[in-house]
Amino acid sequence: AKKAGRNTIHWYSSEITEQMSERVILRRELEKAMQKGHLALHYQPIVDARTSRLIGVEALVRWNHPKRGLISPAVFIPLAEQTGQIISIGDWVLREACANISEIQRAAGHELTIAVNISPLQFARSRFIERIESVLETFHLPPKSLELEVTEGVFLEDEALAFEVLESIRNLGVRVSIDDFGTGYSSLSYLRRLPVNKIKIDRSFIREITQNTRDKAILGGIIELAHHLDLQVVAEGVETAEQAQILQQFRCDHLQGFYFARPMPFSELLNYIAAARAR
Ligand code: C2E
Ligand code: CA
Ligand code: CA
Ligand code: CA
Repeated sequence: AKKAGRNTIHWYSSEITEQMSERVILRRELEKAMQKGHLALHYQPIVDARTSRLIGVEALVRWNHPKRGLISPAVFIPLAEQTGQIISIGDWVLREACANISEIQRAAGHELTIAVNISPLQFARSRFIERIESVLETFHLPPKSLELEVTEGVFLEDEALAFEVLESIRNLGVRVSIDDFGTGYSSLSYLRRLPVNKIKIDRSFIREITQNTRDKAILGGIIELAHHLDLQVVAEGVETAEQAQILQQFRCDHLQGFYFARPMPFSELLNYIAAARAR
């Protein structure tokens, strides 16, 4: 007969096995999803804070799973970062976004930027710059139509390398913004020497600005500081008119959030742009 002790061990190890196999399954399914074209990009409008005019869109990846339905990038991007699959996903996202830029610009009737999220792993890879160059060339894009959103995470591994890569991107004429600004490491000290165009203030700073005077003060301070350093500021996660108004008073340059529009499929974006032009 089996002893209780053995059963206990058995119980723990099977739970670990279960978690591992769930990851293995997801990993394999993600591989398939890429081959079968089950990944899609949704686009969220970014507007000028003063005029509410559309100035750009952010590309956000989605996984359309045949059985599980729509899987959030908050779930599969961290997994893809662990397995290294983020490299091929990131490549696909970049190509797909660039393939869509000119049609989006044509619909809008003016120049727009497409912002693409870049994982620290992608960023640190050798030949990342060549990759960007070749995609721009393939789709005949002016470099300033493309904006790369990187998090403060890119500085963690090798800060010197990160600065070098940022310099090269800037030399290409491609824009860079620091995503989720304020949630990562240091922030203020390196901001001065950072070769980027824009900071994107994290949603967590926006959420309570209408009630929390400290959050409001921090927000005002960040925007003023960024402007002194000739950086543009975009606020993400703007959900109410009151938040938009405060951000406008603080001279925030660009706004993004559910109050203006949710992320939407490409075809819907084209309709959205057409409707906005008709207004
Ligand atoms: P993020 O880059 O900070 O993107 C903003 C997230 O906030 C998006 O979630 C967007 O749908 C959501 N959002 C926008 N406006 C509002 C709002 O007003 N209120 C609230 N509550 N949320 C809002 P999403 O699309 O689920 O993406 C989650 C994260 O997954 C992204 O956060 C980004 O870190 C990552 N991600 C998405 N697409 C890609 C990609 O192509 N590559 C990489 N490396 N990461 C990606
Ligand atoms: Ca982003
Ligand atoms: Ca963000
Ligand atoms: Ca965020």
